[in-house]
Amino acid sequence: MPSPDDGSLEDGLHQDGRRLTPQRKRVLELFERRGSGCHLSAEEVHQQLVDLKLKVSLATVYRTLRLLADMGFLQELELSEGGRRFELADDDHRDHHHVVCIRCGRTEEFESDSVLAAGAEAAQTFNFKLIESSLNVRAICADCQN
Ligand SMILES: [Zn+2]
Ligand SMILES: [Zn+2]
Repeated sequence: MPSPDDGSLEDGLHQDGRRLTPQRKRVLELFERRGSGCHLSAEEVHQQLVDLKLKVSLATVYRTLRLLADMGFLQELELSEGGRRFELADDDHRDHHHVVCIRCGRTEEFESDSVLAAGAEAAQTFNFKLIESSLNVRAICADCQN
């Protein structure tokens, strides 16, 4: 299978000192193909790999996703009832927030300067060094309200 040009990825991994196995790469490619703003659960990633005729267990997919998140390639969203979802970690796409349907897990993004400002202010009040401010809104989507 031909692999896309991923020179920058390889450079990053080299610095990190860890290897991206073909399977990890395959998982990352699923996210890259769909671009930023796509939020997938482990089950959805697993289903897509199965559709590609790859034999991989859900437990392995979980481990792979956690590892890719640790390595900084993916960002993990913890959404109580919606479970965990993962999205590409993208510097241009970092300061956004999520509204999540607690029934079906549908996830939409929004931006809000006031959330960012509130986070910055809170960190300053307590003399913390700010890393990020993100808001997850739990809701029920239009389809699930019926
Ligand atoms: Zn997002
Ligand atoms: Zn829903």
